[in-house]
Amino acid sequence: ATPTALLVGTGRGAQLGILIKGPELLEETRRVDTVVLDKTGTVTAGRMALVDVVPAAGEDAAEVLRLAAAVERLSEHPVGRAIADHPTPHPSPATHPTPATHPTPAAHPTPAAHPTPAAREQSSPAAAAPDPRVDVALGADGVAIGADEVREFRADAGRGVSGVVRTAHSGLDLARRVLVGRLGWLAEQGVRTDDVAAAVAAAEDDGATAVVAAWDGRARGVLVLRDPVTPTSADAVRELRALGLRPVLLTGDNRGAALAAARAVGIADEDVVAQVMPDEKVAAVERLQAGGARVAMVGDGVNDAAALATADLGLAMGTGTDAAIEAADLTLVRGDLASAPQAIRLSRRTLRVIR
Ligand code: ADP
Ligand code: MG
Repeated sequence: ATPTALLVGTGRGAQLGILIKGPELLEETRRVDTVVLDKTGTVTAGRMALVDVVPAAGEDAAEVLRLAAAVERLSEHPVGRAIADHPTPHPSPATHPTPATHPTPAAHPTPAAHPTPAAREQSSPAAAAPDPRVDVALGADGVAIGADEVREFRADAGRGVSGVVRTAHSGLDLARRVLVGRLGWLAEQGVRTDDVAAAVAAAEDDGATAVVAAWDGRARGVLVLRDPVTPTSADAVRELRALGLRPVLLTGDNRGAALAAARAVGIADEDVVAQVMPDEKVAAVERLQAGGARVAMVGDGVNDAAALATADLGLAMGTGTDAAIEAADLTLVRGDLASAPQAIRLSRRTLRVIR
């Protein structure tokens, strides 16, 4: 028979927005000494914002954004949503006569809050003035005139997306296989990326997430995204630490973005594991366990599910994917990392009552 105190514990958990799959899990919760935190959607809100588009030399920022958005419209990843939800220019002849370089700020309606050094370098003084043609195109958000058609969409978890984009308007009919994803993934597929490598490095050093859009075998531009840590994350990490847990940040994102997030919430640089592929998240948890740690993991994504199941205790963000919630032992219904230390404290209190 299940001790009443455990049932009371699960009931109290429900009041706090912590759903526990079985009362016996409270026991596991008590023992953990390490807490692995996914970055995107767990420590951050997972609502990335596109803050910059840096075209490769000779490319048009508006076209880079439009083709990338066409493919990302079919993606569920926070990176994809940020790019797809952004006001996108529809193809119109006005955006096409491509001058040598397009000024990045003009191609982007967001105030250039975080222009990357690379973006600034690429904007020649002559190109510094806003380009009205691009602004007009961007203003027509959602207009379906000559909208791009996407076929053969593919999402490669932790890497990027691709699809064949057909653009047919004003006598033009083009079908291009467009790839959007991390630089290394594109390079592996034979895409020429040297034109954008500096812009990617600059954005990542600056703590941003940078993905590259490519077609016809060449990288055409860099999309720079930011996803600030949520206001409650730093306190939650402090509380987890006060409960005797060692926090570790685990992410598929680049090292620069990972370090920026870790520092913002008070996780040490040496406890940051970045650029891990979804299957490597499991290996990272197993490595900690092999070192003697009892691991709790908090995550939200499809790519976190296997690692949540591998951890001694899996906690899913209630705002996350079904795959994560199904794989986890506990669900933090409010989708707030502040519930993680609450769950640990609750189980310890409950078990103290029993003993
Ligand atoms: P996280 O662990 O932070 O949730 P993921 O493993 O889901 O990150 O993704 C890792 C990286 O893969 C992203 O930072 C991005 O560079 C790339 N990526 C994933 N999905 C997409 C997408 N839809 N479009 C472009 N890039 C993507
Ligand atoms: Mg995530």
